[in-house]
Amino acid sequence: MIRIGCHLSCSKGFLNMGKEAVSIDANTFQFFTRNPRGGKAKPLDLEDIEKYLVYAKEHGITKILAHAPYTLNPCAKEEGLREFAYATMQDDLRRLEHIPGAMYNFHPGSHVSQGAEEGIRLIAEHLNRLFEEDFQTTVLLETMSGKGSEVGRNFEELQAIIERVERKEKLGVCMDTCHVFDGGYDIVNKLDEVLHEFDEIIGLDRLKAVHLNDSMNGCGSHKDRHAKIGEGNIGLEAIEQIINHSSLRKLPFYLETPNEIEGYHKEILLLRSLYKAD
Ligand code: FE
Ligand code: FE
Ligand code: ZN
Repeated sequence: MIRIGCHLSCSKGFLNMGKEAVSIDANTFQFFTRNPRGGKAKPLDLEDIEKYLVYAKEHGITKILAHAPYTLNPCAKEEGLREFAYATMQDDLRRLEHIPGAMYNFHPGSHVSQGAEEGIRLIAEHLNRLFEEDFQTTVLLETMSGKGSEVGRNFEELQAIIERVERKEKLGVCMDTCHVFDGGYDIVNKLDEVLHEFDEIIGLDRLKAVHLNDSMNGCGSHKDRHAKIGEGNIGLEAIEQIINHSSLRKLPFYLETPNEIEGYHKEILLLRSLYKAD
């Protein structure tokens, strides 16, 4: 069975996200831990979480993915901004201790004028500091499209971060199909080669999740504009291969396509129909 869901608004709480997921035939989902632009999170509603956990178990929802605010920059030049990223992620991870089995995805950061090497060093330092506390949640580095000075624009940069982290068992990677395609990996014509390259450089055992998006732009465009499934330059045929690929099919897939809830429902039904039986 395919493990699939989409990005949901967290404003109504966990139980409602679970119900919304079930209403669109999803069995997982992604959510922002707080306003994606950063800022203070609402106090945790432990009663809501308790009800959610019962509901999730009853309805087979697993592997939900928390997404850190995308404005955080763990490798900012300014120490204050790095400190803010650290405090925010630490707070997120403390909260996620209440949701066993959830994973936590973040954008590695933008090195701005410092160069990728310094960016990589700062991100690894940030993670080593976070992991001084013993969180159970697996933290995922997202593959980036390489727009601006994003770190994580190729597999080598992600591996350079991982290499410098002491508690590697806490780390995984989330592959965003739009981002890797825009980053120059031809997952349309060379999916096997791309995954082989991922395996050689990072190791497929590190791959824990897939953001399933089509792309408005071409391979290597470094743009990061998501398109609806089958309506972009990746196309439905390649997406069918992605969800069925032996190295990917057991991973959870999260849609981040430009859709309202009914649009997500349609995409989930379409992808379920394209997923080959085990
Ligand atoms: Fe993301
Ligand atoms: Fe993504
Ligand atoms: Zn994106």
